[in-house]
Amino acid sequence: MIIGLSVNHKDGTSRIADAYVNAVVKAGGSPVLIPLTTNRSVLEENISHIDGLLLSGGGDICTPLFNEELHPTVTDYDLERDHYEIEPVRMAAAYDKVKALHKKIYTIDSHCDTPMFFSQGIDIGKKNNKTKVDIPKMQEGMLDAVFMVAYLPQGARTAAASQKAFDKAVSIINQIKQQVEKNKDLVAIANSVEDLKKNKAESKKTIFIGIENGYAIGKDIRNVEYFARMGVKYITLSHNGDNDICDSNRGNKEHKGLSEFGREVVREMNRLGIMVDISHTSEKTSFDVLEISQYPVIASHSSVKALCNHPRNISDKLMKAIAAKRGLIQICFYKGFLKKDGQAKLKDAIDHIDYVVKSVGVDYVGIGTDFDGDGGIPGIQNASEAPQITLELLRRGYSDEDIAKIWGGNLIRVMEAVKKAK
Ligand SMILES: [Zn+2]
Repeated sequence: MIIGLSVNHKDGTSRIADAYVNAVVKAGGSPVLIPLTTNRSVLEENISHIDGLLLSGGGDICTPLFNEELHPTVTDYDLERDHYEIEPVRMAAAYDKVKALHKKIYTIDSHCDTPMFFSQGIDIGKKNNKTKVDIPKMQEGMLDAVFMVAYLPQGARTAAASQKAFDKAVSIINQIKQQVEKNKDLVAIANSVEDLKKNKAESKKTIFIGIENGYAIGKDIRNVEYFARMGVKYITLSHNGDNDICDSNRGNKEHKGLSEFGREVVREMNRLGIMVDISHTSEKTSFDVLEISQYPVIASHSSVKALCNHPRNISDKLMKAIAAKRGLIQICFYKGFLKKDGQAKLKDAIDHIDYVVKSVGVDYVGIGTDFDGDGGIPGIQNASEAPQITLELLRRGYSDEDIAKIWGGNLIRVMEAVKKAK
């Protein structure tokens, strides 16, 4: 337990009496001093890393900061120091609100690549330094569910290579299931929204399974049903490079959109209740998909082109078409998709959410961090920091209902709509 200590400000130094330090140590905590600053974001960063806070006080408090009259005998106060101590208390109060909200809503991250690290011997039930997602981090971040994907880089498209890609996807999905089996008191796979709700009621975390790259299907349509039976809830039609299904947004326009086989794949996914994911597909592919899919379509981890012009991001025109079909843009927390120049921070990611909300409404946006892919930015580096998103949305005036939609309500709606096919 790390306990932050507010300090006294004297002679240009931040200091604290040993008695405070010793009291924290005696109680079993590890004390750290929080240097005096009224820089809000620095304070926030400090506060976000501690488990508790001991306000050392001292001297008088400037009561007008609490909208109280200043008593004539109150003279020994330090306005700067009072600000510095009051701010964390306000932040703690805001955090309480976040906690209460996370208890009653469903929080879902629609894209993470954590299975890529399974070969390094990680156990998702234990906190580790290699992955941005594990069960303890999800618990700390009050994050209910993540989509873990079987990611396949685009490779050769011979029959042998396609078979290998299929086998690899099957193997990764089995690894996800083994990780869950090993930690079945803490986490369960969900095949449906009902499973997610049941898991939350039992205080278990949820993993949904996805496949990143339809390359896994190869040229055999029967593989879609095979994956559906394994519990796959979405398939990203392509990755970087065209495949037998469609053109990628990093490809050579081989099919000029969705191929004939790709059309068959989308119809089959519709039939089997698998969501169609257009993150990574070319703009033309995405429009083709929107035209033929009977159900809403998602971009599981993409951001907005208007704010950051990147081929992986969604244009205004495409965003409107996705929303018109009641689909989703799940904002990605990879720095390169958020800001062209300079370091992207949490507020930049939330700007992308704002943009979708202002353009098409709050019903068509969500969160797909791409943790353990390349996702993670200052302010939200891993699953344990999920509450920072909620805090920033609250700060920007989003209602509880809106936040519930953004965090998972919208995705739940799409999963329910897609499921109806079955
Ligand atoms: Zn990706």
